[in-house]
Amino acid sequence: MSFQSDRAGHSRRQFLANAGTVALVAGGTGTFSAAAVANPPQNPVQQAVTKVQPFDMADVTLEEGPFLHAQRMTEAYLLKLQPDRMLHNFRVNAGLEPKALVYGGWESEPEWAEINCHGHTLGHYLSACAFAYRSTGDKRFKQRIDYVAGELAACQKAANSGLVCAFPKGAALVSAHLRGEKIAGVPWYTLHKIYAGLRDATLFADSESSRAVLVRLADWGVVATRPLTDAEFEAMLATEHGGMNEIYADLYFMTGNPEYLSVAQRFSHKAIMEPLAEGRDYLDGLHANTQVPKIVGFQRVHDATGDTKYRDAAAFFWKTVARTRSFATGGHGDNEHFFAMADFSKHVFSAKGSETCCQYNMLKLTRALFLHDPRPEYADYYERTLYNGILASQDPDSGMATYFQGARPGYMKLYHTPEDSFWCCTGTGMENHVKYRDSIYFHDDGALYVNLFVPSSVRWLEKGAVLSQVTTFPEAPSTVLRWKLQRPIQLTLKLRHPRWSRTATVLVNGLEVARSTAPGSYVALTRTWTSGDRVELRLAMETSAESAPAAPDIVAFTYGPLVLAGALGREGLAPGTDIIVNERRYGSYNDAHFTAPTLAGDPQALAKGIRAGAEPLEFTIASAEGEPVRLIPYYRIAHERYATYWPVRPGRA
Ligand SMILES: [Zn+2]
Repeated sequence: MSFQSDRAGHSRRQFLANAGTVALVAGGTGTFSAAAVANPPQNPVQQAVTKVQPFDMADVTLEEGPFLHAQRMTEAYLLKLQPDRMLHNFRVNAGLEPKALVYGGWESEPEWAEINCHGHTLGHYLSACAFAYRSTGDKRFKQRIDYVAGELAACQKAANSGLVCAFPKGAALVSAHLRGEKIAGVPWYTLHKIYAGLRDATLFADSESSRAVLVRLADWGVVATRPLTDAEFEAMLATEHGGMNEIYADLYFMTGNPEYLSVAQRFSHKAIMEPLAEGRDYLDGLHANTQVPKIVGFQRVHDATGDTKYRDAAAFFWKTVARTRSFATGGHGDNEHFFAMADFSKHVFSAKGSETCCQYNMLKLTRALFLHDPRPEYADYYERTLYNGILASQDPDSGMATYFQGARPGYMKLYHTPEDSFWCCTGTGMENHVKYRDSIYFHDDGALYVNLFVPSSVRWLEKGAVLSQVTTFPEAPSTVLRWKLQRPIQLTLKLRHPRWSRTATVLVNGLEVARSTAPGSYVALTRTWTSGDRVELRLAMETSAESAPAAPDIVAFTYGPLVLAGALGREGLAPGTDIIVNERRYGSYNDAHFTAPTLAGDPQALAKGIRAGAEPLEFTIASAEGEPVRLIPYYRIAHERYATYWPVRPGRA
């Protein structure tokens, strides 16, 4: 790694690091080139002030480990997909001849035509290619982005409209929705993915052609929604609309155009926001992934307006979902809906628990809240969901991703096919594994936060500093950090002491300098650091049992932040049956009779009785039937039956 950088380059880095979740510096010119950023305009639009800032993904490296492996699998998938096949229906809608056959599943099948999901994949694809380009510099991703943007520009030109979409009846369908007519489907949900893909392509891949398409699309949206009264707008928002409020707030930051901010506020669903802002949880029965992106948008509208209602709603939503509605894995919901937690025992064993998109969106929300309020609790949730929801969602062998991650004992993870599924979670699944670099480290003016224990390094250009992290975590509960500095510098290093570790001990150059007995905090080391200084953080991982208050006898076992799953083998499963097309059939796959082992005894005593195996992160637990059950981290489970939650009978194990 080099310290070489000019000031303009550095400013650009800051700008990009903040993109998408924090403030952007921008003027009223509608442009945000490197030059404009290096020399801020006279009247910049309001910047959101956040307490901490992320690092540009280009300044973070990932070293060998499960996260880098997952990124490589996704990169290979992105490079295999053919943009012309994803563009097929966009060209059809614009009156142009398609250049290649359309993909299957949600991209073309009639059932998905009806709910207007055709085309959502292209938006996720743009975002994923932008993150992959930003984090690796591989120009093949940039080429694909620019090609897609050029094609979308051609569609705009041919149709003489800013609207680009791939669902049938495109413009007519959106017009009917805007007129308040009853429609089948979720056109704004799908359009949000296109907007977001173009935003990410603009900000993370410097794609000027994407910016041009985005601004034309955004202006189309302004004009199209202008005739609606506020009441008509609010009524339209009863239909799922993704994070349309988020994207228009981002557009405001990117351009300074106040019309975009007005649209962002109008796209903020008041029927959801107002009770949340008052601290009322009425989420039972609501479709989960319809809500989470709106909440991400509330936080973003707060950034743009300073209106505390939006922030209060976002913070309360996070609190109630993360603290009271989440499984041990960080996921939530049954069959995509929030359920009454008093009914936990009726829902926990569903095959349709924990839609992966919800975890993707909860992590976006968590990160946005952390930037304003860097509480360890946010980082704890982030880590837990990252391992047990996100990393766990990818097939390490094929790179394909899950939709639901059910906790039905004896069930298995089901992954999408490469070309015939294209679920919502296929789309968020493309993004998940190419943005791990964005949340390992954060900083404020004088402190560097180490939130995740991942082999990696971060370059802090402003300080002339590189911090590298060598660790085999979670196999070993420790990490070693080393500074490389241009000159000695006084900085605070904030090391996360996770909630799951009773103690945290810190050694600098081999000498103990701090010992924390406050799980869920940061250990702050303020010193004048010298190049070569070595910092070691030692944590303590132990096994534990977790249950929901309404069902104390249904437990999951954890080891540090990891959920341990019973690895139950492949009995009765034909090879390859876990790569599937139709996510609606979850629950009916693999329903051949299977008797999972059971547990009996006091849950905490069972957890304490878990024995370490020969390999790291391999354990056994005694079953009620007498046979030991093999436990491994849930994220490592693939191609076999598993159990994450167990009904525990009273009595001796
Ligand atoms: Zn999904």
